[in-house]
Amino acid sequence: FDELDTVEQTLGGTWDDVRGLLGGKGANLAEMTRLDIPVPPGFTVTTQACLRYLDGDNTVDQAPAPGSMPAEIWDQVLEALRATEHKLGKVFGDPTTPLLVSCRSGAKFSMPGMMDTVLNIGLNDDTAKGLIDRSGDEHFVYDSYRRLIQMFGTVVLGLRDELFENVLSAARTTRGVASDAELTAADLRGVVARFREIAPQFPTDPYEQLRMAIEAVFRSWNGRRAIDYRTAAGIAHDLGTAVNVQAMVFGNLGEQSATGVAMTRSGATGAPGLEGDFLLNAQGEDVVSGTRATLPIQSLGKVMPRLYAELQEMAGRLEARYHDMQDIEFTIEDGTLWMLQTRDGKRTATAAVRIAVDLANEGLITRATAVRRVSPAQIDFFLHPQLSAVARATAIEEGRLVATGLNVSPGAAVGAVVFDPDTAQRLAADGRKIILVRPETKPDDVHGMLAAQGILTTRGGRTSHAALVARQFGKPAVVGVSALEVDLVGHRALVGDLEIAEGDWVSLDGGTGQVFLGQLDTFVPDISDSWLSTLLSWADDYRRLGVRANADYPVDAQRARANGAEGIGLCRTEHMFFATDRLPLMQKMIMSGSTTERREALDELQPLQRSDFLGLFRAMDGLPVIIRLVDPPLHEFLPTFEELSHRITDAKIRLSAAASLDEIDGLLTRLRHDEDLLGRVEALRESNPMLGLRGVRLALRYPEILQMQVRAIFEAACDALEAGGDPHPEVMVPLTTDAGELAAARTVIDAEAAAVFAERGVSMPYQVGTMVETPRAALTAPKLAAHADFFSVGSNDLTQTTYGLSRDDAETSFLVDYLRTGVYDHDPFTSIDPEGVGALIDLAIDAADLHEGFEVGVCGEHGGDPTSIGWCHEHGLTYVSCSPLRVPVARLAAAQAAL
Ligand code: ADP
Ligand code: MG
Ligand code: MG
Repeated sequence: FDELDTVEQTLGGTWDDVRGLLGGKGANLAEMTRLDIPVPPGFTVTTQACLRYLDGDNTVDQAPAPGSMPAEIWDQVLEALRATEHKLGKVFGDPTTPLLVSCRSGAKFSMPGMMDTVLNIGLNDDTAKGLIDRSGDEHFVYDSYRRLIQMFGTVVLGLRDELFENVLSAARTTRGVASDAELTAADLRGVVARFREIAPQFPTDPYEQLRMAIEAVFRSWNGRRAIDYRTAAGIAHDLGTAVNVQAMVFGNLGEQSATGVAMTRSGATGAPGLEGDFLLNAQGEDVVSGTRATLPIQSLGKVMPRLYAELQEMAGRLEARYHDMQDIEFTIEDGTLWMLQTRDGKRTATAAVRIAVDLANEGLITRATAVRRVSPAQIDFFLHPQLSAVARATAIEEGRLVATGLNVSPGAAVGAVVFDPDTAQRLAADGRKIILVRPETKPDDVHGMLAAQGILTTRGGRTSHAALVARQFGKPAVVGVSALEVDLVGHRALVGDLEIAEGDWVSLDGGTGQVFLGQLDTFVPDISDSWLSTLLSWADDYRRLGVRANADYPVDAQRARANGAEGIGLCRTEHMFFATDRLPLMQKMIMSGSTTERREALDELQPLQRSDFLGLFRAMDGLPVIIRLVDPPLHEFLPTFEELSHRITDAKIRLSAAASLDEIDGLLTRLRHDEDLLGRVEALRESNPMLGLRGVRLALRYPEILQMQVRAIFEAACDALEAGGDPHPEVMVPLTTDAGELAAARTVIDAEAAAVFAERGVSMPYQVGTMVETPRAALTAPKLAAHADFFSVGSNDLTQTTYGLSRDDAETSFLVDYLRTGVYDHDPFTSIDPEGVGALIDLAIDAADLHEGFEVGVCGEHGGDPTSIGWCHEHGLTYVSCSPLRVPVARLAAAQAAL
């Protein structure tokens, strides 16, 4: 461990290369040694040696035979062991001054599924006797000895741990005690004797113990569990693992000894100060194994104040060296503190944000690093409901954590279990909260998935249908909960003996994969949390890309602005027409037989639109507000053909049974109205409405609708201006495919704006722009640019029109298969397709670049996707516009793209 300088010189590489050679644990043990932090001496057998040993025989079945360690490697191990002996004045295998070592695996990336640690290597009957003579503590020596045989037996020899635990529990019963620590030295001697019978292959030669342990660690690199883990986690299979051989220090040497683990800051909240647990008179895994009740690390300050202060001081030094919160393992041997491990600590999203900001404020990292440290996914955490920490802890304590699966879609979901999608949909329509539980999901189940609060499946992985759909729609989901067995026929699920019936409440945490029984409390994390807002304000200093919001209502605009949006990138005006008080007016307008009639209906709608727009201008005072003219085909505002036919039939039946004249009158009026509507629906019916009379085509077909909207926009802007505000109206024309139609629309818009300004006796700068959402718009962008002041890329529609596929249909059928089977390597509706869609966007950007101050933004859902945001930054877009809730994510992602 004390030759790190030499290793670095020979390697000539980065710290990452050092970790590659020595493994994470070994590299950090060496680094701590270099920092003069007390680390028990020892050495690292490199990943190169591991690969050399495995040498192509890379599967569990054809692993190298035990005992086949190349002599060259073993010779070096012996040489290093001599150096360790020399440092301590102890001798490995020597009965008078025995050196004991641990054998610890440590790959480049921390990896569950690899071989565990074996402690106390070097003990046999002779060295045990020598150690008793030296320490005078027979209890300690036999406790260590029985641990060695147990660990060696399970880890190296592959025996079942149960065999050993049975012996221990029998010994406890005989002695009438609850814990192993209370067994007497004589009891433990008996236990050792029994263990030797259980594991007759246990080698008494210390060198044989060491060699076998090292080889076992090497071979565990290619164990089934390790391979599966690497495949799932995307870790390369050819890295190999290092093995650390380290002199033992003993936490089980009496009441002045202890062992513990700690984080240098809270992993839950990020609050400064050590957080962890320790045990007096204990060894190694006792703390994490949960067999003995641990003490909180703070109480170490009472028992051993000097050592506690030393630990705090070391924690500070480690943070200063690693520039991050550390997760440390330590042991106190008879009043001396030893560090056994350090690594960057795991943390919740809340803690990640606080730690990044605190470290920057403490000068340990730069603000730029702080911004880089937190992932957009962690910011996303603040936007989803979460299980409360108290509820989670209580539930775990009460044994209500029933299973854990893959955490594929974040957020907490609480609801009653339902096993089929139709029931889920029906109950959800009644306002019930539902968790859809299925063995796995198929496209047929999507309606139930959408209706559910959350989704749970027992099969499937991270790219299963359930996982993809859940992420797509932001539903919390846990998949692959293999401990759970779904009985679809019996409408129940089983976890071991426990039965979960339909209607039982469960709570899922899609962020951790945990499944709880019962209704746990949830909360929405506070976005105005001071650490988060500090971090985001730093992010704003680095980003070049603007971030605006897609907001249709003043309240959304306010929320967006509070989240840091710099304007509205897209207001979809049609959403205002769907409100219950407006839909009848909208329908009246659509039903009008003449332009005059239509104007009358529009005159009623106009003040409503105007007041909405005024609200938007107020909320976004001083910032651009892009208002898109009505886009969808008109039939969307009318009831469907099926619904109307049903209503008409129903009215006819009731008519035939009507009792009074009044009733007949009423029914007849309704019938006539519905028949009129039906006629209109028929007339508006298009075989492909998405490519039909919508967007700018609608505006040109019914210029009075266009005029009404433009008038509402500019009257509202004048109102805002007269009230002392600073409105920045921008009118956006949707679905343009041709310069001619944009020119025609613009003529109407400019004329109407001029008319309003003339009437009001004021004027203000405004802009008129267009969506780029068809390939032709992009291909003819230079011509469109001649009639526009800005472009906004409608990336959802542009993706649909570029691929020639309908998102709504694709996402519930073949697209899911394409993604699962790898036909598509990514979902183009999640991240901008750089090759096709991206190339078209580039054309729009190139055309805009020819005009001074011509802005190009992206206002599809991609605007909130970190990968797409990175793309937008690289390609020089002016801004992205996303839902108000995604604004913080976009701010961070835009900064990271720039850093
Ligand atoms: P893991 O990677 O599972 O944490 P480690 O190699 O860190 O495995 O070993 C687990 C525990 O064993 C350590 O936290 C420490 O308590 C104990 N341990 C390992 N090596 C030694 C040693 N040389 N002296 C004392 N305890 C040790
Ligand atoms: Mg460890
Ligand atoms: Mg569109």
